[in-house]
Amino acid sequence: MKIAVLGTGMVGRALAARLSGLGHDVTVGTRDPQATLSRTEPDGMGNPPFRTWATDHPEISLAPLGEAAAAAEVVVNATNGSGALATLEQAGAEHLAGKVLVDISNPLDFSQGFPPSLFVKDTDSLGEQIQRAFPQARVVKTLNTLNADLMVDPASLGAESSVFVSGDDAAAKATVTGLLISFGHTDVIDLGGIDTARGTEMLLPVWLRLMGALGTATFNFKIVR
Ligand code: NAP
Repeated sequence: MKIAVLGTGMVGRALAARLSGLGHDVTVGTRDPQATLSRTEPDGMGNPPFRTWATDHPEISLAPLGEAAAAAEVVVNATNGSGALATLEQAGAEHLAGKVLVDISNPLDFSQGFPPSLFVKDTDSLGEQIQRAFPQARVVKTLNTLNADLMVDPASLGAESSVFVSGDDAAAKATVTGLLISFGHTDVIDLGGIDTARGTEMLLPVWLRLMGALGTATFNFKIVR
């Protein structure tokens, strides 16, 4: 499939590399390709600058958001939650219409430091905000409850664990579930409509405390039943 991964952080890089490795035609979307490629410092998390990663992945192209989204059948939103709506607006509603929009973003608010709070919760979610803002996109919330490396290689944990899908379009969820299975996920739980993204986004405060307690981000939820 032709897939646009909007996002140049660790999630965008992990998804783009894995999807490309699986044979998909992948373009990474960014707000300003020149600015993204001209960064020379590691990001806030210590990840090498994007151009280092891009040099190692010559088969994956970098394009402005709209160009990447326009050419794609499936669009992945791997952008910072605080900028997600604006970033998708820049990608263009007309380029998202009718397409599967895989939303991995979390509504984290770091304005008061760490741990972050959620800027939307309980009665709404970022997934729903995105679906409302782009009603013709077929939004599927998924993969926001585990770290980037495990998203694309869950088998590396050495134990089965669970991921979730939320969305109003059954065919879109089937497409996304197929991609998740191709990554190695074996327990994909369909939570229901996009409103169920409230639940998985509200797992983030738990996930963050687990990371603190365990001293690692290499863990995942497993739903035993
Ligand atoms: P990130 O630093 O959260 O996001 C980087 C991307 O967001 C860049 O592509 C950047 O665009 C874009 N962006 C748009 N508006 C922005 C703004 N106002 N401020 C900062 N960046 C903005 O990277 P990430 O760690 O890869 O996470 C991506 C998303 O996945 C986030 O929503 C995060 O909560 C979620 N998530 C992350 C993990 C993880 O393991 N890191 C796990 C689960 C979910 P440019 O390319 O134009 O700079």
